[in-house]
Amino acid sequence: MGYDYRNKVTDDSDFKLGDDSLNRGSAQAVKSGPRRSVLSDETYEMVKAMVFSHEIAPGQRVNIDALSIRLGVSQTPIREALARLESDGLIAKEPLKGYSATNLLTVKEFDDLFKFRLLIEPWAAEQAAKNVDAEGKAALKAEIQIAKEALKFDDDGKIEAMTEHDARFHTLITRMSGNENLYHAFERTHCHLHLFRLFVANQKNLISGQDRTQFVQDLFEKYYQSGSGQLAIKQHQAIAKAIITGDPKMAKQNMYDHIESSLKRFSPAAVAAAAKIEK
Ligand SMILES: [Zn+2]
Repeated sequence: MGYDYRNKVTDDSDFKLGDDSLNRGSAQAVKSGPRRSVLSDETYEMVKAMVFSHEIAPGQRVNIDALSIRLGVSQTPIREALARLESDGLIAKEPLKGYSATNLLTVKEFDDLFKFRLLIEPWAAEQAAKNVDAEGKAALKAEIQIAKEALKFDDDGKIEAMTEHDARFHTLITRMSGNENLYHAFERTHCHLHLFRLFVANQKNLISGQDRTQFVQDLFEKYYQSGSGQLAIKQHQAIAKAIITGDPKMAKQNMYDHIESSLKRFSPAAVAAAAKIEK
């Protein structure tokens, strides 16, 4: 699983926030030298893939010894990986109990997440349009181009690649707002990681009811695939155009409309996941 929600387009940010500085676990890994860093990163990706694939199911306890044997690495990179996954919101640590995988987003958590995004992201887009410079314009154009390329992938790869693009696009705009607090707050939601996890849960038929599962599957596909009008990309292009042409009002409105439509499209996935958990 190559899902990577981190920002690949604007690594040279004004905020000096490289990918991994956002992450406590990996910051430690970087300090302890390149070899450890690679092992730590690989272990992190492997454990994250296990969470996504439900090899470690939502709510399931994580046994560090067993994981260490299973992955053939010592406990140190396992502990580092778990600390990073904890900051991603995929693993929770409880005193005296240890680590467990977090549950999928509840309906309320999902709703709260999108209401928060509706508060901060339209403002971020407005500020981005006011502040935009040549570098920002180039980064937006590059990201839209990557999304068009992603549409050429196969079905599942396309959804994964489009989720990655979506994460980078929204992260880029919160960064371009020039407000570091807002940027951090957005990153901390890990919203695309959670959306993708809902998609995987649905795809693995872990969400109840075949009809409902198909319905949720359709939602993701219609949103991200080319056959149905490339909706996400069209909306992103409209947002990018407003920012690039320096139209703050239009950028704000387009971002609001885009998140509102995302909320309507994805909320059945959260409802279906919650229904499964209740059973
Ligand atoms: Zn989007």
